[in-house]
Amino acid sequence: MQCNLWNVITPAVRTTCFKQYQQALPAIFHQRNYSKAQDADLVVIGSGPGGYVASIKAAQLGLKTVCVEKRDTLGGTCLNVGCIPSKALLHNSHYYHMAHAGEFKTRGILMDNVKLDLPALMLTKETAVKQLTGGIAMLFKKNKVTHISGQGTITGKNQVSVKKADGSTEVVNTKNIIIATGSEVTPFPGITIDENTIVSSTGALTLKAVPKRLIVIGAGVIGLELGSVWKRLGSDVTAIEFLSSIGGMGIDGEVSKSFQKILEKQGLKFKLGTKVTGASKSGSVIKVNVEDAKNPDKKETLECEVLLVCVGRRPYTEGLGLEKIGIEQDQRGRIPVNVRFQTVIPNIYAIGDTIHGPMLAHKAEDEGIVCVEGIKGGTPHIDYNCIPSVIYTHPEVAWVGKTEEDLKSEGVQYKVGKFPFMANSRAKTNNDSDGFVKVLSDKNTDHILGTHMISSVAGEIINEAVLAQEYGASAEDIARVCHAHPTCSEALREAALTAYCGKPINF
Ligand SMILES: Cc1cc2nc3c(=O)[nH]c(=O)nc-3n(C[C@H](O)[C@H](O)[C@H](O)COP(=O)(O)OP(=O)(O)OC[C@H]3O[C@@H](n4cnc5c(N)ncnc54)[C@H](O)[C@@H]3O)c2cc1C
Repeated sequence: MQCNLWNVITPAVRTTCFKQYQQALPAIFHQRNYSKAQDADLVVIGSGPGGYVASIKAAQLGLKTVCVEKRDTLGGTCLNVGCIPSKALLHNSHYYHMAHAGEFKTRGILMDNVKLDLPALMLTKETAVKQLTGGIAMLFKKNKVTHISGQGTITGKNQVSVKKADGSTEVVNTKNIIIATGSEVTPFPGITIDENTIVSSTGALTLKAVPKRLIVIGAGVIGLELGSVWKRLGSDVTAIEFLSSIGGMGIDGEVSKSFQKILEKQGLKFKLGTKVTGASKSGSVIKVNVEDAKNPDKKETLECEVLLVCVGRRPYTEGLGLEKIGIEQDQRGRIPVNVRFQTVIPNIYAIGDTIHGPMLAHKAEDEGIVCVEGIKGGTPHIDYNCIPSVIYTHPEVAWVGKTEEDLKSEGVQYKVGKFPFMANSRAKTNNDSDGFVKVLSDKNTDHILGTHMISSVAGEIINEAVLAQEYGASAEDIARVCHAHPTCSEALREAALTAYCGKPINF
């Protein structure tokens, strides 16, 4: 017969032992890197615009929701090192430029001794980031989303394990999982980013001094925005681009050309059709070797104090354990999903920068909402042709839908309605009249197929064009809608009127 010590000790000793054991439990689990386990309807991994919006929507729809984030603050790339800090720098560097370059003088505002206080400018940016990331924490509380801080790994079809900063692990058993782990900077082969003098977009948001010369590799959206910031603050900026045009994917050819001229007028330099082959440091100078993309014998070495590598972003899925659970990625690292955002494992979903489509915050947000509605039984639908793009330079560039190049290659017959901001009363009043609006509509049905614009407020006006396109409006529809006067939006109405009947009123 087996001797059982538990049976031979008195009940009082047994109770004491049990209590001591209970008290010791947390320490035992801690030592073994286990803490507690909880159940959820949905675990969202990542708290960027995709993840935090999905979490809030899910909680609002009654799902017990946990959001796992490994960064110290919520909000992902967008709020911490992307959209928000870059827009803060763009906004305030524009004011500095206006004051410093005599722009205010032409408006009758005289000022002396204009100086840049870079630490204060950076502090304004950091304050905005802090307030907005803190705002998400409050929204999580308000909507009863449980936030777990740590690195999430999918350890089973229905399980996420979170490795916390103190070394412990929290396990969450869940009915559904959404992967919203975003993206990371694409490295440039042979160039090591130190975020000090050879920087990615993240380092370019926190430079300690204005570099005398800045070279940007890549004249896409982020490169142009950050290049503009440092140009306005005093750097001599050159953007090197492999392609023969600026503005990245999806920009209309005519808009791109016109935009380049405007930026060149502001002092930005471009080397297009040019390939960077390497970079090396020599004291405080960085030498950047380039060659003509079509004629490799034409070589040149450029010099700068800071090199900004801006050649794109790639999905970030490190440490998620995808291989172990059988979720494969495509050649570009994206997670394949169906229209409901389901991966090959039906209760595991993926959204935002981890999947196909443009890497944009508002695209990730929309996918987060629609994905969660789908989990609750709804029918998800996103028209990717109606996702706007904005470059937040001055003036801004914005577009939605098809470009002229798209329509030509698709063989679609279309009409063009253009209206310049030179003829828009508000833009003239504001002394801010660079740019134009271009509406592309179907030649036979008048349906709007695409809208493109350059304007100081293009990022705001574009939303009207998106609404029109989402609801299948014709150019005539926009032309017949009463627009407040004097506003820059009237230029969109005039461009639509031109597309519809060939003639604007004010030009
Ligand atoms: C400089 C810059 C400027 C930009 N400006 C704009 C703009 O003006 N407008 C716009 O629309 N887009 C802009 N973008 C792009 C935009 O930031 C992204 O498209 C957007 O953030 C993608 O959202 P997401 O939710 O998919 O991922 P992310 O915002 O990248 O968030 C993913 C989150 O997941 C976390 N995470 C990753 N793995 C794990 C894990 N295993 N466990 C726990 N957490 C994890 C990460 O820490 C991160 O916080 C900009 C990007 C940059 C870099």
